[in-house]
Amino acid sequence: MGRADRRPRTTPLVFGQPVVSEAAIDEVVDTLRSGWLGRGPKTVRFEAEFASAVGALHARATNSGYSALWLALKVAGIGPGDEVITTPLTFAATANAIVNVGATPVFVDVDRATQNIDPARVTAAVTDRTRAILPVHMCGLPCAMDDLQAVADEHGLLVVEDAAHAVGAEYHGRRVGSLSDLTAFSFQASKNLTTGEGGMLTTANQGWAEQAGVLAVHGMSLDAWRQYSSEAPHPPVAVAAGAKLTMSDVQASLGLHELAALVAARAGRSEVWSRYQAELGDLPLMLPADAPSGVVHARHLFTVMLDLDRIGRSRDDVRAELRALGIGTGVHYVPLHVHEYYASTLPYGPGAFPDAEWIGARTMSLPLHQQLTDDDLADVVSALRTVLS
Ligand SMILES: *Cc1c(COP(=O)(O)O)cnc(C)c1O
Repeated sequence: MGRADRRPRTTPLVFGQPVVSEAAIDEVVDTLRSGWLGRGPKTVRFEAEFASAVGALHARATNSGYSALWLALKVAGIGPGDEVITTPLTFAATANAIVNVGATPVFVDVDRATQNIDPARVTAAVTDRTRAILPVHMCGLPCAMDDLQAVADEHGLLVVEDAAHAVGAEYHGRRVGSLSDLTAFSFQASKNLTTGEGGMLTTANQGWAEQAGVLAVHGMSLDAWRQYSSEAPHPPVAVAAGAKLTMSDVQASLGLHELAALVAARAGRSEVWSRYQAELGDLPLMLPADAPSGVVHARHLFTVMLDLDRIGRSRDDVRAELRALGIGTGVHYVPLHVHEYYASTLPYGPGAFPDAEWIGARTMSLPLHQQLTDDDLADVVSALRTVLS
């Protein structure tokens, strides 16, 4: 059947479809039968395997990427009066974590091509209240970490990465998760490695890892009794106002198999990526930047920038037309400073971050996962051709 004759799909192609292996399903069932459902041996094993996979010394599994970010900022001692420099082109979780430890997000605009925070503009945002830089590796492309680390070193700042898009990414021979002071991953259902909901905090700092473990179980220290008694343990002691942020063994069961399949999954997504690059080049859109040499892209999101002048419609119109043809797409992101909450609480108006806003108006993410069939891909490409020509 010729491309022009394609009909709308009978089953819509969902954006961000998770792929769950039979081995992962068996592992979950094994856990359900084991009688241990909460944080336990499988979570501890997942932490160890994850740490080793990303080259981190310590890993703490959490119930979300947000929780990992919140824990990172808490153990770093960031709180009221502090400022954290981050990108406006991100999911709300990034800035919410900053706000919810009592600190203030300070946005710095992104580079249009990489979509990542522009290191050249970070220095101008540093004040005597700045405590950390919180970069987000957009779509799975690592930020210019050497440049960001140099700014951080110059001003005595911490670097805390939001690596929600970047599990499996590498930068100059090192893996994301081992690059900076603290790194937060998300295993939410649409991410490259998923546990349904979940996340991970990695760090080389043992004290921070231990603190994160305590904060993640309501601030209860199981070891605190040792300070008082050399005899029988007494009940755990609350040593901080923590929260419940742990991962369960049911989730870790998925994680163990997702982690084992990560390299193959990335290879599958790379094939889809190459097909898109090869087949969409003549359409009125800009293709995503690829990684410079020495950098491995995690291939989380394939995001095109629509040429709105040539198309003559808005991105949202284009998405609706694609949806009518059975093709789901995503938007990553409408920049945070124009969202209601951040527009009313931070001192930025429309126009404050022209490059993030430029991306926000025309960005559209295409389906990208390792189980897209040739027919699925042909459907996406032909729907784009129909809608954009
Ligand atoms: C998914 C995501 C998070 C965290 O998501 P959770 O739903 O809390 O796991 C944080 N930052 C970015 C950029 C994300 O895409």
